[in-house]
Amino acid sequence: MNSLAFASIKEIKEKLDKKEISKEEVLRYFIKRFERHDGVIDSALEIFDEASILAHASHAGTLAGIPGIIKDNIVQKDRPITCASKILKGFTATYDSTATARLKKEGALLIGRANCDEFAMGSSGETSAYKTTKNPWDIDRVPGGSSSGSAAAVAAGLVPWSLGSDTGGSIRLPAAFCNLVGIKPTYGRVSRYGLIAYGSSMDQIGAFTRNVYDNALVMAAIAGHDAKDSSSRNVPATDYTKELTGSIKPGLKIGIIENALYAEGMDPEIASAVEVAIKHYEKLGAIIEKVKLPMIEYGAATYFIVSRAEAASNLARFDGVRYGLRADVDNLNDMYNKTREEGFGSEVKSRIIVGNYVLSAGHAGQFYQKANDVRAMIRSEFLQAFKSVDVLLMPTHSIPPFKFGSFKVDKLAMDLQDNFTCAANLAHIPALSIPCGFTASKLPIGLQLIGPDFSEGLLYQTAYAYEQSTPWHTYKPDNLD
Ligand code: GLN
Repeated sequence: MNSLAFASIKEIKEKLDKKEISKEEVLRYFIKRFERHDGVIDSALEIFDEASILAHASHAGTLAGIPGIIKDNIVQKDRPITCASKILKGFTATYDSTATARLKKEGALLIGRANCDEFAMGSSGETSAYKTTKNPWDIDRVPGGSSSGSAAAVAAGLVPWSLGSDTGGSIRLPAAFCNLVGIKPTYGRVSRYGLIAYGSSMDQIGAFTRNVYDNALVMAAIAGHDAKDSSSRNVPATDYTKELTGSIKPGLKIGIIENALYAEGMDPEIASAVEVAIKHYEKLGAIIEKVKLPMIEYGAATYFIVSRAEAASNLARFDGVRYGLRADVDNLNDMYNKTREEGFGSEVKSRIIVGNYVLSAGHAGQFYQKANDVRAMIRSEFLQAFKSVDVLLMPTHSIPPFKFGSFKVDKLAMDLQDNFTCAANLAHIPALSIPCGFTASKLPIGLQLIGPDFSEGLLYQTAYAYEQSTPWHTYKPDNLD
C-alpha cells in the first residue's frame, strides 16, 4: 500500500470507488504515516483517533474517505484549538467552521490539527509555541509560514490535502517552499466563520495539495456564500475541476509583473525559473505582455500597518475570561495582564503593541488611514491591469526556503517575505502558487498567478495547463518512504 503515500486525491478516490481499499484502511494508512514520519517533520499538533475521525464524516460526497489536516486556527467541533499559542491551551471548540462543516459533509476525514505560526503571524513557522515544523525537502530549512504544518504534511505525503489560511501570504509562501499548489481565494469566496481572526479584512481560508486538480476539488467543496459570515460574497460556487481542460483559454493574455520579477534582492535562480515558465506559457499559446505595477512595492509597508491594526483589535478578546488560559491572580486587571503576558509569544505581543500604536488617536491619520488609502490605490492598479490582461504572473517569493533562525535578528527581512504575496490580500483578489522548478540544491521554487475577483476557475485552468506539461509536481522529497 506504499503507493498511497503520494497518491493524489483522484487516485485514492478511484481505489475507493473500485473497492480496492476501504476508507478505514486509507485512514489507518495515513495515521501510520504520521506515526512514522512526523516525529521528524513535526507538522501536526494532534492526530485524532480513528473512530472519532470516522464518526465526524458523512459517508458520501466528493471527498468521501479522503484524509486531510486543518490548520490550528480553523475550528473543528469538539476538538481543541490553540492557534499554536499558549493562550488557548485547554480550549475546545464548540462548533465547526463553515469550511470544516462543508468538508465533513463531502465525506472528508479530518485527521488532525496542523501546526502554524502563533495566531498565523509569521513567514517561517518559527513562532509556534509548541513545535517547529521542518521542510520535508530539507529538514534544516523552514517550510514557510504561517501555515507551516499544513504545507509540510502534504509535501511529506502524510495527507493528500490540507487547509491553511492566508492573510498576507501564509498559504502561497509555504506552498512555494514545499513544492505545492496553494490558493488564496478572492476575499469573500470562502466563509471566515470559524477561522480565528488575525487580519479580518484580508484573512481567507484556502487549500494545499500536490496538484492542481486536487486543489480545485477541495476548494469547490468549501467555496460559496455563507450567511454566517457577513463578508462572504453571494456569488455561486462552481465546480472548478470542470475548468481543467489541459489547455489555456484561447487568446489568454498573461501580464508579467516586471518590477516584481526583477526586484532588488530577487534570487537569480528563482528569476530564471520563472523566466523559463513564461517561455513555456508562450509555447502553450499565451500572449505575454510586460506590465509594471509600481504600487505593489508599497504592499509590504501597507500590509504591515493594516495587519497589526487588525491583529491588535482581534486579539483583545483573549483576556483569560472567555477562552483557554487564565492566570491565577485575584485582581481582575492583573488577571488580564498576567494572562496575556504568559499566554502570548513575543511576535504576537510586538504586533499588538504596534497595532495599538498605529490606531491610537494621535497617529491613526498618519498610519492607519494612510495605509487604507494606499491599499485602495493598490487595488485600483490591479483592476486597471486586468483591463488589458487576463491574469498576472510573478514569483511567489524572492529567496528559496531558508535555514531556521536566519531572521532572528533582522525581523524586517522576515516581514519582507510577504513582499510578493500580500498585495493580493490587500486588493482582495485571488492568487495561486504552483511549483515551477528547483534550485541547484533541490529547493522548490513557486510561481504565482493572480486574477481578478472570482477568477479562481481561470487561475486553475491556467495553472493546470502548465502543470500537465511540466514535471515539477511529480518530484518527491527524499527519505519519506
Ligand atoms: N507573514 C505574514 C504575517 O506574518 C503573513 C501571515 C499570514 O498570511 N497569515 O503577517
